[in-house]
Amino acid sequence: MGRKFFVGGNWKCNGTTEEVKKIIAVLNGAQVPSGDVVDVVVSPPFVFLPLVQSLLRSDFHVAAQNCWVHKGGAFTGEVSAEMLANLGVPWVIIGHSERRLILNESSEFIGDKVAYALSQGLKVIACVGETLEQRESGSTIDVVYAQTKAIADKISSWDNVVLAYEPVWAIGTGEVATPAQAQEVHHQLRKWLHRNVSAEVAQSVRIIYGGSVNGSNCKELAGLPDLDGFLVGGASLKPEFVDIINSSL
Ligand code: PEP
Repeated sequence: MGRKFFVGGNWKCNGTTEEVKKIIAVLNGAQVPSGDVVDVVVSPPFVFLPLVQSLLRSDFHVAAQNCWVHKGGAFTGEVSAEMLANLGVPWVIIGHSERRLILNESSEFIGDKVAYALSQGLKVIACVGETLEQRESGSTIDVVYAQTKAIADKISSWDNVVLAYEPVWAIGTGEVATPAQAQEVHHQLRKWLHRNVSAEVAQSVRIIYGGSVNGSNCKELAGLPDLDGFLVGGASLKPEFVDIINSSL
């Protein structure tokens, strides 16, 4: 069976109640393929999750942008996986490069978070990707392998994981990876999963691309054999997100 296309919208730390309502109105009015063809998941800041859940069309879903690494408790400012599950939030983004680099989250910590979120019944969009310095020094594949291994070491099933390849140099910069660059890393990630997890997982796990995807460049990337969708930042706040949802058609 083919892998279902997946389009995630990461709203990051943006939005007011009014802006959220406007984005939802655009999404709710959009002509898109059925949920059998594309998974659409939007990820507002925590505080807007209930509002988005209450307004969003039922064939689209929501993701949190992070969660705490273990059970909740005395961790001021954190939100636990249990709380997300309790709210009926099905997805969570873990390991975004902004958290790795700005908040110093290590690959091991991210692996623990993915494992804990899965154990609480959440589905996970797990992010990996190299910095510009790492790409220029020729270590892209080693970096994404190590980040993926740190996750694989902690989990026993990839059924509820989508792997997002997001080169840091492409995030929010307007410099999208070329189709050849994206395909190469996605292919190598699938090879890593084949060698280190299983042939079945390598075949079934969705590997999505993120980094300056927009309504104009999505179509060419969507046709790549090892690319199963997108994680979109800036353009997910704009009407062109609908074009990205429709890019696999
Ligand atoms: C992201 O933040 O995950 C992202 C891909 O951002 P952008 O699309 O703005 O590059």
